[in-house]
Amino acid sequence: MSDIIYTKVDEAPELASASFLPIIQKFAAAAGVSVGTKDISLAGRILAAFPDNLTEDQRQSDDLAELGKLVKTADANVIKLPNISASVPQLVGAITELQSKGFAVPNYPEAPQTDAEKDARAKYDAIKGSAVNPVLREGNSDRRAAKAVKNFAQNNPHRMGDWAADSKTHVSSMSGNDFFSNEKSATLAEETTAKIVLETANGEIVLKDGLSYPAGTVVDATFMSVAALQDFLAAEIEKTKADGTLFSLHLKSTMMKVSDPIIFGHAVKAFLAPVFEAHGDALTALGVNPNSGLGDLLARVKDNAEIVADIDACIAARPPMYMVDSDKGLTNLHVSSDVIIDASMPALIRAGGKGWGPDGKESDANCVIPDNSYAPIYDESINFFKENGKLNPATAGTVQNVGLMAQKAEEYGSHPTTFEVPEAGTVKLILEDGTVLHAHTVEAGDIWRSASTRKAPIEDWVNLAIDRQKTENCNAIFWLDEDRAHDAELIAYVKPILEARGVADKFDIMTPRAATRSSFETITKGQDSIAITGNVLRDYLTDLFPILELATSAKMLSIVKLMNGGGMFETGAGGSAPKHVQQLAEENHLRWDSLGEFCALGESLTFLSEQKGNEKARVLGQAVDAATQGILDDGRSPSRKVGEPDNRNSHYWFARYWAEALSRQNSDPELAEYFAPVAKALAEGEADILAELAAAQGPAVDLGGYYRTDPVKTAAAMRPSATLNAIIDQ
Ligand code: NAP
Repeated sequence: MSDIIYTKVDEAPELASASFLPIIQKFAAAAGVSVGTKDISLAGRILAAFPDNLTEDQRQSDDLAELGKLVKTADANVIKLPNISASVPQLVGAITELQSKGFAVPNYPEAPQTDAEKDARAKYDAIKGSAVNPVLREGNSDRRAAKAVKNFAQNNPHRMGDWAADSKTHVSSMSGNDFFSNEKSATLAEETTAKIVLETANGEIVLKDGLSYPAGTVVDATFMSVAALQDFLAAEIEKTKADGTLFSLHLKSTMMKVSDPIIFGHAVKAFLAPVFEAHGDALTALGVNPNSGLGDLLARVKDNAEIVADIDACIAARPPMYMVDSDKGLTNLHVSSDVIIDASMPALIRAGGKGWGPDGKESDANCVIPDNSYAPIYDESINFFKENGKLNPATAGTVQNVGLMAQKAEEYGSHPTTFEVPEAGTVKLILEDGTVLHAHTVEAGDIWRSASTRKAPIEDWVNLAIDRQKTENCNAIFWLDEDRAHDAELIAYVKPILEARGVADKFDIMTPRAATRSSFETITKGQDSIAITGNVLRDYLTDLFPILELATSAKMLSIVKLMNGGGMFETGAGGSAPKHVQQLAEENHLRWDSLGEFCALGESLTFLSEQKGNEKARVLGQAVDAATQGILDDGRSPSRKVGEPDNRNSHYWFARYWAEALSRQNSDPELAEYFAPVAKALAEGEADILAELAAAQGPAVDLGGYYRTDPVKTAAAMRPSATLNAIIDQ
């Protein structure tokens, strides 16, 4: 096993790796550090799941499973890049591409009938959505902006939209009968197995068997009433029309892969209610599934003029929709994974409460976030900015995050314990000894879910928060609501640990709404705060605050302190930026910023020096930090426009600054001597290298695929400077 594992992923970060990884491997080798790869890309995961459908030489090892084992050991040192959390359309896209390349993987069965289809569907269900992170995150999360990054943002503040006190933008949530209000939670005194059953008038249906929980696990159960959801959506569509705002729905269909596509489907149905009423049977016959979105629906009905006309008439009578791409006519309801709440809400807030409408103009929006569990953080952010005006990134402090996520903690809605209830009855979570831990009376179509959080991860999270607060010596808040069932169980863990360690006075415990306000007040004063949160807020807040403070979450340091002693270093909180791939394909410019990779690399090398007692790795890591600082100070980050420096240019500068820092240092003369000629060659080659990189931009690029690109073509596109390649490969 290599000293450091650098994950092979998808889309923009994977393209960046084609340029950056050869540099890392070469530099690290000089310190005796090996850097290997493991494939966790969507295409890789599909191929690994179907060995029997593939020829011997097409087969691929299950790298995700191997990494899943590695992260449970003290040997783990993983640099984890963002991968696709596939929605169904993305999964189908990847399957189609692989099939066209001669990989005989099965189709995605929409409605599995045969055993083979059921088997394929089960395998694909394990691949789709947030399938990678829960396997790898065997530790809790420490996310913050590196000092260099925060300083840079303060010195070079990004543009922020103005907030008007009379902005009509607001958040709308259900008045009850949602996940928040129906939640029940309990902490198990003893280890137990459990099952989830649905008792109906016709007997019992086992929804899930063979669950097992260690003692001390917090087990929740809740449901969203579909009737209440439908009433709410219908009312919000009317209210939006009356308000004159944009109808915008914000969910997280990738992470909450079971629940949120269903909620999204109800919104599609509500928006097109007259069409579904008039043409229900015809739509069913055409294979329309509202959960697949308006885009899929329109494609299926395009040859039926009557339905198309009715859809047009319906949309014309509805409030204008918040758009994903108004030029292309892509609405909020086209694809469930196009609008992802943790990115969409901060972008809207940063823009002064504005979203794009169908007319290509910015408007105020009704932000529909059905469930109340986390909607208050966006509602309160909006209230705060209406009252106080926009945040000033030049003077604002920072909100860091310590997030509970180890061992699949709080995997709401993405969990194999989320169900669309097949018929009316009572869902019960029953323990081994027959105790009914939780029960809910439900109707057909209600979305019922259970999630669990183990004791060891909770204790580790509280201790991590204590360590981080001690290091930063700043304000620290547990974002927990004592009136919410699950949070009350967590508070029962948190308080005794804080007291036992004598630090209770250093921490506040506040509801998410109060904590939102308090955090904005703190950073407005130029001070810092640590948000200590559960898994979902970890995800949401590490976009919300960075997008307001730094313009992007991609520049965050994201460390997973693995519970068994290893380290995982995520390259920022951003995703895989599909739009960047499109730009590269069209005009050979990659605007992806590798700052997240730079920060993670520095941390990984420093960790390696402690993990393996490798002093050279420490020197390499310190030089990485110097190079990262150089990239920021000298403005070497990629530009967004073709013809200007892009991702590849930033890698050249990074290599040069890295080599220069290594040749300058005197803790390891051997490394200094090794890197002096490299630094010299990179400096002398500057004019040629920059000319070669510039010459590559402009024309369209063929990568030989999207989900599974051709490595030779990708390397040719991403390493277009012969001069640079010669220095690196030497
Ligand atoms: P995204 O990939 O983060 O992209 C949203 C926008 O953020 C990009 O279009 C880009 O803005 C900006 N951005 C993100 N990273 C950047 C970087 N390194 N440099 C410059 N700009 C950057 O979010 P998404 O579109 O919601 O998600 C795309 C895919 O990533 C999905 O499949 C999602 O599931 C996955 N995802 C994975 C992880 C993870 O594995 N940890 C996390 C989040 C999302 P501009 O286009 O304006 O340049």
